[in-house]
Amino acid sequence: MTTLLETLTEKALRRETPTREEAMAVLGGEGELLDVVAAAARVRREFFGNRVKLNTIINMKSGMCPEDCSYCSQRLGSKAEILKYTWISPEEAAEHAGRAVRAGAKRVCLVASGRGPGDRDITRIENTIAAVKGDHPDVEVCVCLGLLGEGQAERLADAGAHAYSHNLNTSEERYADICSTHTFADRVDTLRRATEAGLSPCSGAIFGMGESDEDIVDLAFALRELDPDSVPVNFLIPFDGTPLGGRWELTPDRCVRILALFRFFFPDVEVRLAGGREIHLRSLQPLALHLANSIFLGDYLTSEGQPGADDLQMIADSGFVVEGADEPTLPAARHDLVTIRRRGAGSAKARRAEAVRQGEPAAADGPGADG
Ligand code: SF4
Repeated sequence: MTTLLETLTEKALRRETPTREEAMAVLGGEGELLDVVAAAARVRREFFGNRVKLNTIINMKSGMCPEDCSYCSQRLGSKAEILKYTWISPEEAAEHAGRAVRAGAKRVCLVASGRGPGDRDITRIENTIAAVKGDHPDVEVCVCLGLLGEGQAERLADAGAHAYSHNLNTSEERYADICSTHTFADRVDTLRRATEAGLSPCSGAIFGMGESDEDIVDLAFALRELDPDSVPVNFLIPFDGTPLGGRWELTPDRCVRILALFRFFFPDVEVRLAGGREIHLRSLQPLALHLANSIFLGDYLTSEGQPGADDLQMIADSGFVVEGADEPTLPAARHDLVTIRRRGAGSAKARRAEAVRQGEPAAADGPGADG
């Protein structure tokens, strides 16, 4: 008789979504933990081999946010004793990025606190992308600035951004429990804008905020519908001075099951082990490398992570290798959908939207052509 884990593995290898019942069974504790890891690890190896992609976060502007996301140390009224500062310069950001790239980072995530950027903020980010890419032309730049307005995603794409990151964080059903100043639908809308502008969509979640198994499964289905290229999996860092401070409800077992479930839902997508891995997975961190194919190197937005040297040691000890700048992260079939932009700014070719108007064959403008 085919077991649940065999079914999930076979479906994932065919890029099929688990059913709600199958997903609930994984979270509900069916199967020994190591069997769950072995099943999802087969999927990870099929699409990503033994490569681990390294990413780094640069917090361009920290704290003082008018939004009230309850998990966030930068929120309105946060008493968390984090570093607070306004925009760092493009040059400073490029310097941090350069250090991370030399340490092995392939993607640089430029993040700023706030509800969303003003047009002057987009100009700052355009200048920052130019500075980062001037030093390291091959680095992937991902931007994370909150809710995007009309035309802003296009400006970022034209400036050379590769991806836009905006997490859904939790299920639609309980979104209002974690934030009252914007909605789940606002977040979906921004992700769609970014995708339509040709940016590679990055969207994930934070676990450990009181969500049920049903919420986790709902969120996985909602994310799958958005078809992201990368999915960061965060575990709540419960900062003192925030409404969720002191909430420690995750166990390493639960974190591993969540990661395995996300691998089954996103077999050929970059599943990124993100904030909170050190404090929640603890000694099971190396096991998580068999599920996620991507991690953040070093520090997070407002908290410090494991030293980069320890991460590199953990990767080597576990039999993985750091993904090189010249290796595509995503498997061929998916990678074709997000080929690096070769149109618009910096090239002689018209942007995709303009090319359609100029009557280029539709096939050249669809998935498989330029991002
Ligand atoms: S998650 Fe972003 S929008 Fe929400 S409070 Fe933190 S910085 Fe502001």
